[in-house]
Amino acid sequence: MRLSKLFGKTQREVPADADTISHKLLVRAGMVNQLAAGIYSYLPLALKVLRKAENIIREEIDSAGGQELQLPVLQPDELWQLSGRGDKMGEVLFTVTDRREHKLVLGPTHEEVITQLVSRYVRSYRDLPLLLYQIQTKFRDETRPRAGLIRAREFPMKDLYSFDTDEAGLEISYQKMVTAYQNIFRRCGLPAMMVEADSGAIGGKGSHEFMLITPNGEDEIIHCPKCGYAANVEKATSIKDSSDIGNPLPLEKIATPGKEAIEEVASFLKIPHRNTLKAVFYVADREFVFVVIRGDLEVNEIKLKNQLAATDLRLATDAEVRGSGIITGAASPVGLSGFKIVADDSITSGSNFVAGGNKPATHLKNVNYPRDFNAEIVADITRTRAGDRCPICGGIFESKQGIEVGHVFKLGTFLSEKLGASFIDEKGESHPILIGCYGIGIGRLLAAAIEQNHDDQGITWPVQIAPYDVYLCPLYKQGSKVAEVCDGLYAELRATGLEVLFDDRKESAGVKFNDADLLGIPLRVTLSARTLEKASLELKWRTEKQTIFIPVDGAAAAIAVEFHKLKAK
Ligand SMILES: [Zn+2]
Repeated sequence: MRLSKLFGKTQREVPADADTISHKLLVRAGMVNQLAAGIYSYLPLALKVLRKAENIIREEIDSAGGQELQLPVLQPDELWQLSGRGDKMGEVLFTVTDRREHKLVLGPTHEEVITQLVSRYVRSYRDLPLLLYQIQTKFRDETRPRAGLIRAREFPMKDLYSFDTDEAGLEISYQKMVTAYQNIFRRCGLPAMMVEADSGAIGGKGSHEFMLITPNGEDEIIHCPKCGYAANVEKATSIKDSSDIGNPLPLEKIATPGKEAIEEVASFLKIPHRNTLKAVFYVADREFVFVVIRGDLEVNEIKLKNQLAATDLRLATDAEVRGSGIITGAASPVGLSGFKIVADDSITSGSNFVAGGNKPATHLKNVNYPRDFNAEIVADITRTRAGDRCPICGGIFESKQGIEVGHVFKLGTFLSEKLGASFIDEKGESHPILIGCYGIGIGRLLAAAIEQNHDDQGITWPVQIAPYDVYLCPLYKQGSKVAEVCDGLYAELRATGLEVLFDDRKESAGVKFNDADLLGIPLRVTLSARTLEKASLELKWRTEKQTIFIPVDGAAAAIAVEFHKLKAK
């Protein structure tokens, strides 16, 4: 490809709302262009990367037994009502109304459509298992589209669905996809970490995410370097130290004038935070919820939401708290009634806690569960942190940031029951089909690849998904043979099967080198009057500092050999 003809230009300016490195670089490299918030055009360079990633995905999924199909973007709203997920997805669903006043959904995902489709073709256990997938555009009306392609409203995705007769079959399909995903990310040159993920309040029986580790990732991952346990912070659990449990002492009232926050009460009484209980107030699906947790811990709202099986969860406002009759700054579940009380299981990891006295400026000493209060739910709702201890091996947790690029999920029979997808077994009995779903966000993968592979000058594409292999960079000089030699080399390089971006512009070395660095093509090949004096050309790998000179004669073949080695890795 001649750069002078390539659609899309590099630029110095970045849009004011570009808040991530990948967004800035994608725009500066002329790879994407924003049409509206969270809606992008993919220009030729970006599309080449997408196609390479898609090819790898297709090869791995096909070799795992997947069959590709294509499902409609427009989905009847009735299907979403039938599954009950229309309300759960809420305002994220894009909807349109047709001329007959029928409401249609622009597919944010395709579990409903494919489950209904499968229900029309699968009759017997002999028709299963099935692995069906597509690569298609999805739509989600994000509240705040941000970070360029990372949280877009329209985005390309590979989604696969597995259909099995039993748990053992689902487990086999799941493991096949885990292996395929590991192969895909490795072959894309993008090392991904597989982490345990939250599977939500409904149906899920197991779920993992594939994360590209990068400092700007929006997800936090809790990782144990000792045993390898890794989980999204939404899901991660840790050991709650219960070493200081003592005999329960009699409940005692103490005056705590002006001391409300846990920090104030703990320092006033000269006790560690872990010897206190704090109260936090939420509203879950319009119901007021009183949450109690050990004073040194924080609530994980995802875990809490799951425990409550709530669709919507938020912190209660000050007005709502006061309106419920709670004495802020001195609240505890002791002696309270009429509230839905959820306690973190840390309340059982200690004894003789200090907690609120439910009267102004009053706290209670020696509060013990269940002697002094009850809770409707006692479960792990703690936000795990770096420094906490691993429940598997006792190691000390570390925290990393990552971008989720893949998700595998055992959905079970929830949807097949709602949509009537069943099969007849050997004995003639009917059962719901077990479903798994498996996604890779391909647009997001493009952005995450840049987050993981860049430097101050620009992108540093992994060789496997780079839009081109070679950046051919002649420095033209009147009266030299640069143009002639370079045209010949361009043809020779392409004849070896390499993809070449030929910077045939009459620009200065500075401009050309800057663009070469910005675009991040793995190898820059420079020819100038000076290199030709020695019948040589200059090679510079994008991620290396030094340059190498090799003879022009045989250069194309030598470069092809290098790429062959790199791509085989
Ligand atoms: Zn561990």
